[in-house]
Amino acid sequence: MIADIHFQSKYVFEAIDAGCAAVRVNPGNIRKFDEVGPQICKAATDAGISLRIGVNAGSLDKELYAKYGGPTPEALVASALKEAHMFEDVGFHDFKISVKHHDPVTMVETYRLLASKGDWPLHLGVTEAGPAWQGTIKSCVAFGALLAEGIGDTIRVSLSAPPVEEVKVGCKILEYLGLRPRKFDIISCPSCGRAQVDVIHLANEVTEGLKGITAPIRVAVMGCIVNGPGEAREADLGVASGNGKGRIFIKGEVVETVPEDQIVETLLKYARDIASKMEGDEDGMATGPIVMPITEQ
Ligand code: SF4
Repeated sequence: MIADIHFQSKYVFEAIDAGCAAVRVNPGNIRKFDEVGPQICKAATDAGISLRIGVNAGSLDKELYAKYGGPTPEALVASALKEAHMFEDVGFHDFKISVKHHDPVTMVETYRLLASKGDWPLHLGVTEAGPAWQGTIKSCVAFGALLAEGIGDTIRVSLSAPPVEEVKVGCKILEYLGLRPRKFDIISCPSCGRAQVDVIHLANEVTEGLKGITAPIRVAVMGCIVNGPGEAREADLGVASGNGKGRIFIKGEVVETVPEDQIVETLLKYARDIASKMEGDEDGMATGPIVMPITEQ
């Protein structure tokens, strides 16, 4: 449990006393932060927990807002640096920093600027990113740019959606960046003039049918037999459709041809078999992409 405290510093101490594993403090709105900061560091040290300096564009310190004319990258970084140096001056180093902004371009510029000033662990976030669809895109754009540069140690996806959706998006971002072993994945073609089946419908049916699968199985749904098998050679299982039939292939080799109306059930049957084999085989679970460490700055 990580507490997120604003306005009244007494709640920072209460959260620490209550046994929280870490506390985020917002330097922009905690009253008299300059005075209570050292006490907060001492309490965290005594409890053996870490802190996050959580700067946010929507609650930037008023003086910095006036000085920089708004929550610019320079203003957000100035706020973070002030608190980081205060923490370090009292010998406290067990903290990470976030400098969140709702605009992905500004957010990326802000984190890049902060990363150029020191090597503190950074917690990435596009704050108030919006409903699931927009927020997911904003988070992918911003996290992708930063993590590919080796900037960022932890992430938070912020969506106007149930928190479990935020976690799913965050996990997938890390998987597709190769920073976490890849789990179940669908490879499906966009369809084109050669498509002889409704690929969108088929891909959605297969995705829905396999949504509980956690094994790192890759299933390809391709619209034709011209390019389908070749394009999906890397998949564990796939289908290429044509002439009212579906050619089912495993690792690029055709294993069965079924009528179009049996494609989904056949694919799901093979997928579950392969997934349960993987789940029973620890080596099989480790066949995802290589996990790359984030490079040092
Ligand atoms: S697999 Fe076939 S239908 Fe799908 S995009 Fe490629 S060529 Fe077009």
